Amino acid sequence: MRPITYSRATDTATAVAAVSADPTSDFLAGGTTEIDLLRQNVLHPRRLVDINQLPLTGVELLPDGGVRIGALARMSEVAATPVVRERYPLISQALELGASAQLRHMASMGGNLLQRVRCSYFRDAESPCNKREPGAGCSAIDGFSRGHAVLGTSEHCIATHPSDVAVALMALDATVHTLGPSGERSYAFDDFFLLPGDSPHREHPMAHGELITAIEVPAAPVARNSLYLKVRDRESYEFALVSVAAALSVVDGTIADVRVALGGVATKPWRAWRVEDFLIGARTVRSNFEQAARVELIEARPTPMNAFKAELAQRTIVRALDTLTGDPGRSAS
Ligand SMILES: Cc1cc2nc3c(=O)[nH]c(=O)nc-3n(C[C@H](O)[C@H](O)[C@H](O)COP(=O)(O)OP(=O)(O)OC[C@H]3O[C@@H](n4cnc5c(N)ncnc54)[C@H](O)[C@@H]3O)c2cc1C
Ligand code: SF4
Repeated sequence: MRPITYSRATDTATAVAAVSADPTSDFLAGGTTEIDLLRQNVLHPRRLVDINQLPLTGVELLPDGGVRIGALARMSEVAATPVVRERYPLISQALELGASAQLRHMASMGGNLLQRVRCSYFRDAESPCNKREPGAGCSAIDGFSRGHAVLGTSEHCIATHPSDVAVALMALDATVHTLGPSGERSYAFDDFFLLPGDSPHREHPMAHGELITAIEVPAAPVARNSLYLKVRDRESYEFALVSVAAALSVVDGTIADVRVALGGVATKPWRAWRVEDFLIGARTVRSNFEQAARVELIEARPTPMNAFKAELAQRTIVRALDTLTGDPGRSAS
């Protein structure tokens, strides 16, 4: 048995000071990742600083039409917020398709972004894993890799980023606000998630003790026509094999604005820039959607076990765009 000190922070500065001062300490929000991994002997904090009493809750409508989501807002609360449902359906859908109702009531938005990979070798606490123990090797590359990534991988790690809502937030150019030992910082969403490269144990740019305080989503009229499509082995309580967050606005049959991000296929929430570049100004015909999806997956590097994901991702992109143009069953044109 390992003793763990528990304390409850009542203000953000004290929470940051407490965790920054002790490299063996972690923040504790809903605990649905932290406590799981502690029990599985993957994480070994000696001190937990409970942040649940900090005033980082709620969803606030901003004057410019965007929203500010508190880091401690629960997944279920954000999904049910009327302004989120109305202006950002892809966020609500991504949240509601994640985990289970009980977990969504516990799990915080900040914790969701920082949840750890579902790679079974990472979680068994014994297999060689570069993410858990830098330099140990990657058991998945020549092992069981059906659920692993095909984009953004490296020779050191191929684990997918597991969050659903991070995919929707990536499509919307969200910003992560933090408070750290050296003050407040803001990170563009795409910069917040690091590719594994040769240091897969580093998943984000934050310093130890840096606290996520809020996630800001800018106004995005295109998001009113948006969706989150999640393909998985069973219809609930399961992580994505492939997911697509997409938003589309069309003027006179031509695409005026489009956002697409992918989950389940990449080592970070993946902005599908190539799809977007291909489709801006294009006609909303199936052949354009198919070509855009092909271009995005050109650099897929699958293992023999997960080669199906490149094809599945393309089909899911096309289905999402078909659905947003109001014709999920359209034939090629
Ligand atoms: C069975 C199961 C199924 C799941 N299915 C899905 C799914 O389908 N889709 C999906 O997206 N997710 C899924 N999840 C993951 C779940 O959404 C996350 O575990 C949850 O969002 C984490 O939030 P939390 O508040 O519980 O974080 P915690 O477990 O408290 O913390 C997670 C990590 O973040 C750190 N942390 C927490 N808050 C902050 C903060 N404000 N600033 C800095 N660091 C912080 C903690 O120190 C810890 O390292 C599933 C989880 C389980 C257990
Ligand atoms: S894929 Fe990443 S998390 Fe999984 S064993 Fe390899 S290094 Fe570890």
